[in-house]
Amino acid sequence: MLATLCMALCACGDSSASGYAMSTWYSLRLTGSGHQETVSKLQETIRLYDYYLNAYDSRSDVWAVNNNPTQRVQVVEEVIDVLALSLEMKEKTDGAFDPGLQPLIDAWNIGNTAEWSVPLEENVQKALAASRLDALEVDRDGKCIQLGTSGAGLDFGGIVKGVVLDAMLQILKEDGITSALLDMGGSIAAVGEKKPGEAWVIGLRHPRGGSKDMFATIKLTDCCVATSGDYERYEVVDGVRYCHILDPKTGAPARSGLISCTIVGPEGAVCDALATASFVLGQQRALELMQQRFPDYGAVLVGEDYTVYTTPGMQDGLQLLDENFHFAS
Ligand code: ADP
Ligand code: MG
Repeated sequence: MLATLCMALCACGDSSASGYAMSTWYSLRLTGSGHQETVSKLQETIRLYDYYLNAYDSRSDVWAVNNNPTQRVQVVEEVIDVLALSLEMKEKTDGAFDPGLQPLIDAWNIGNTAEWSVPLEENVQKALAASRLDALEVDRDGKCIQLGTSGAGLDFGGIVKGVVLDAMLQILKEDGITSALLDMGGSIAAVGEKKPGEAWVIGLRHPRGGSKDMFATIKLTDCCVATSGDYERYEVVDGVRYCHILDPKTGAPARSGLISCTIVGPEGAVCDALATASFVLGQQRALELMQQRFPDYGAVLVGEDYTVYTTPGMQDGLQLLDENFHFAS
């Protein structure tokens, strides 16, 4: 299921591809024919990052790090870079985005879509202690990572789609592509304009509607967008809704009063991490943090009662489609 919907169906004459990777559907559309070679390069990038960063694939570098916690594990530079950015985002979001939550994701069985369970509190506490990454050592020059404590583990699920978008944007730049729409499971990069004078239009998914229902559209030119919500993957147990985004402070699924968080800005990875962090922080803290530390980024946050909170300036180009949604006064 996608958090944001590409409004533009593939026009004839464009260079495009779609597929499934990183547990999600992707679609790539480069305006104009003749760019199929670039499209192939983009697909290879998706494949590689999926391979390097998937903590649940025993062939990946991250799996090797997580399964040899007391050894120095050699990894590719991409993994070092993603870890460095993730730790920076952890610091800048006051710990709301945290790449060390693999033990908790395991305890809640989030990686396994087939079966959810509410773990015993003592298991949550144990996983929470293991997720601290206190003994983590990163050797940038030697390209080695050592977690340092058994039971610790990395999970880049909250940033990986944005990371891949940024890597693909670099390829588009090198190949001189000036108009494209890249959709990695709802994390989207809009390159240039759809056509001269016409922005790309992206639909934001209704957090309680069907997979094709939207509550708003947003116009984008040369920027990325990511959405996190509690409707992507969740389970209701005894009337309580448990979602796949965890609050690193409590070790439990986040419940901040927000049900959908969309972030718009120049870098896909930062958008992706901020969308996850905003969901944890709640509207007041998320908006404060964005304005203080991420002035180049905008937010559209939806509360349980469908109130829509935005950073200043974000309402230009944002159109609410559903009368149940209203901007905060
Ligand atoms: P999605 O991938 O569904 O679009 P997110 O970008 O918010 O949504 O990523 C959610 C994933 O991030 C979870 O499945 C899990 O792997 C990981 N995760 C959960 N909670 C956090 C958190 N607080 N910080 C960082 N990553 C998280
Ligand atoms: Mg995210």
